[in-house]
Amino acid sequence: MKSPNKVSCAEDGTTQGIDFAAQRAKLVATLLHDGHLRDPRVAEAMRIVPRELFLDAEARARAYEDHPLSIGWGQTMSAPHMVAIMCEALELVPGHRVLEVGTGSGYHAAVVAKLVDPGSVTTIEYHAALARWAQENLRQAGVLNVRALAGDGGRGVPDDAPYDRIYLTCSAPRIPGPLRSQLAPGGILVAPIGELPSRLLRLRFVQDEWVEEDLGPCAFVPLRGEFGVE
Ligand code: SAH
Repeated sequence: MKSPNKVSCAEDGTTQGIDFAAQRAKLVATLLHDGHLRDPRVAEAMRIVPRELFLDAEARARAYEDHPLSIGWGQTMSAPHMVAIMCEALELVPGHRVLEVGTGSGYHAAVVAKLVDPGSVTTIEYHAALARWAQENLRQAGVLNVRALAGDGGRGVPDDAPYDRIYLTCSAPRIPGPLRSQLAPGGILVAPIGELPSRLLRLRFVQDEWVEEDLGPCAFVPLRGEFGVE
């Protein structure tokens, strides 16, 4: 059982004696310095979204380490630098409608949601309990433009399609066909593809053609379900 995601905020804005806002600002400064972050809008979104609220209480002290963190059910929340790289690769602008496959904690979706506001994010998670936990995390963080669903994200979410942007936070053997067909013309799809180390691919759907770029090596948990590894 996961512990309830309760947070106690002191009047000075600190939590559990830790100044998370200061840690968040420091992490973003490091990501900018190291070149993982270049886009000021992405930097601002990451300065706003409280990553600690997407972790169980006992893990919060590590919220601003630049590492993947365990979120239970054998899954991990991506490292902040990977969230930054993927957000930049997606070229998000206000008003976009986005599909995320692999909700996990909801943190990545929250950063994307800030960048596309007043647009929206539909996110789908294989483990129903994680999807419920993520929706609660998003609520506690005050993020209202994300809808977290449970199901096999390889099939996409046809009800809300087409999407301006689609991204996967789990690695697939190849891009699932339903996701290609749910991307709007001119859209961008970012996904980790292939066995470890996977390659982070960016696909643009322009004039009925797919243009593919390899953005480099990456490590993600595998996509499950119909289009996954098993
Ligand atoms: N974006 C998340 C990171 C999640 S890790 C965050 O910010 O915390 C990848 C997630 O993909 C895991 O939670 C895993 O359960 C989920 N996943 C794996 N296969 C999936 C599938 N077929 N459909 C939806 N989610 C899937």
